[in-house]
Amino acid sequence: MIVSKHLINYQLSDTHHILINSLSGAVDVVEKDLADKLHNCERDPQVLFTQQELTVFQERGYLFDNTAEEKKAKDRIMQMIWKTMEEDEYINIALCPTLSCNFSCNYCFEKNVKKTDSFTLANIGHAFSCIAELKKIKNKKYVRIDLFGGEPLMPHMMPINEYIFKKSGSEEYKISILTNGYNIDTYLNLLNQNKSTVESIQVTLDGIADIHDRRRYTKNETGTFSKITDNVDRLLLNGFKVIIRTNIDFDNISKLEEYAEYIQKRWGNYTNLRCGIAPVTNYRGQNEKATVGKECDYVEPIFKSFDHCHALHKFNLGFFRILSHVVNIIENDEKENILPRYYFCQATGMEYYIISPDNNIYCCPEVIGVEKYSVGKLFPKLHLDEHKLASWRQRNILNIPECKDCLYGPLCGGGCSLQHFESSSANSCPNPQNTLFKYLEMRKDHIIKKYTV
Ligand code: SF4
Ligand code: SF4
Repeated sequence: MIVSKHLINYQLSDTHHILINSLSGAVDVVEKDLADKLHNCERDPQVLFTQQELTVFQERGYLFDNTAEEKKAKDRIMQMIWKTMEEDEYINIALCPTLSCNFSCNYCFEKNVKKTDSFTLANIGHAFSCIAELKKIKNKKYVRIDLFGGEPLMPHMMPINEYIFKKSGSEEYKISILTNGYNIDTYLNLLNQNKSTVESIQVTLDGIADIHDRRRYTKNETGTFSKITDNVDRLLLNGFKVIIRTNIDFDNISKLEEYAEYIQKRWGNYTNLRCGIAPVTNYRGQNEKATVGKECDYVEPIFKSFDHCHALHKFNLGFFRILSHVVNIIENDEKENILPRYYFCQATGMEYYIISPDNNIYCCPEVIGVEKYSVGKLFPKLHLDEHKLASWRQRNILNIPECKDCLYGPLCGGGCSLQHFESSSANSCPNPQNTLFKYLEMRKDHIIKKYTV
């Protein structure tokens, strides 16, 4: 009998350990003695455990008869993931009407690119022909479009956006808009005319007024909080599903509670509002600032605040790639286990294509406008460079040599591919164990209570 190579056995207290099978998503809290025995059980499991304990540990995937049995279990899980991916009937498109932007945010990942290309009325129709062709090539039934940029809702892009909404409506494509929120008032009529096409509108707000304004300002350094929050009012009143994304780093995280209270007071009654916090990232080395940390650095401040600030519970952690998966596994109230992370992000694992007005197709939003990362062309006709595309899409925990046997791989998915391409070292491992252990430390009392009552 063998202990699963995916078993994480972590001491939560003097009396309890948590057992996590990172691959199957099984989680249990057990008494310390039992966990210690499990750690040493390859010597003689039949002697160490009762038959009932052995059966439970095998059912939960902590023990296997031999490596072949464990491999079979892994193959079953991977088949389930591939089936789910195959059955996904959507192709995901990020359409950038323009690469220009009216803001000059101090952490923007596009700030070094500075492209201003935009689609025109003469060529936006061709972009839609390419989307239809991609849908056909990839054999998908539906199209989901993220309207992205630059800033997609720039006033001078109104005629192009009118075309995009009209065409998407007639093709039954669904649109989610990712905007800085500044020009919503200018666009409100168009949005209202296309309500059935607009699935959601994500607006970024980084804190209460003074904090937001020192991070997200216009090109002439004017603060944007007041105009954006008035625009969020308009969207909510008009019934749009709004997502407020809040980018955090050490500059604003200490004011998260005050900010959450503000959101609660101003918009707490709206059921069409969702909020999420997202870490400012540094995947391309573009944010080498003391204020920008790693995902694991934010775990302690977030959960310290979660404990006593109820307003913060409205904010989900879905933008944290590792932490969100860890929380899903451990705080999951469903009977079914959560499937592992097989890939790190949309660039590596999904049918996700970014259609850019610089005539390129990309698969990672952080490289829009960076020609060397292009994976295809739109003009004169659609061309996908399958070799370049595969260099992104094949980066998953089954293919990356360093990740194949990694205990934490199924919590991670193999790390950011862009970071890997940009870095001189072979690996871009995000060390998910740091995030996991910090989370377990912060939530240990809650976890013991949840799993032992
Ligand atoms: S990136 Fe690191 S933690 Fe993630 S699977 Fe690879 S080796 Fe493991
Ligand atoms: S490869 Fe993925 S995680 Fe990395 S920057 Fe691109 S989208 Fe983000």
